[in-house]
Amino acid sequence: MRRDSNAQSYTNERPTMTEICQKCGEEDEDRRTMYMGCFYDMAEMGLPFRIMSDEAGNHFCTLRVCKACREDWMIAIKEWFETPKIENNCDSGIYIREFGKLLQVTAEEFEIRRKKKEDDK
Ligand SMILES: [Zn+2]
Repeated sequence: MRRDSNAQSYTNERPTMTEICQKCGEEDEDRRTMYMGCFYDMAEMGLPFRIMSDEAGNHFCTLRVCKACREDWMIAIKEWFETPKIENNCDSGIYIREFGKLLQVTAEEFEIRRKKKEDDK
């Protein structure tokens, strides 16, 4: 219950505090915090994570999102979990590190990735 200073009475309205969804940009007061952690520097993903710590000193990457974006995230995690593992067998001898895993890529793919990395700078 909050006191309405103009009417000098009490109402059940909660103070409005809007927040922007970090994924879609929608502004509203109904946001959810998604906590993620995998013992890897997730900053490599280039997402606007905020870093939080719990009382035990564990660090989490968080995103504040709307319910619709939370749903999209849950669908993406479900698809990832249900997708069979993809083996990398190109045997080119050209290795890259991506999200903590060594991958072999073709010379063409290496050049595409190198160019994209330069363009992103
Ligand atoms: Zn959203």
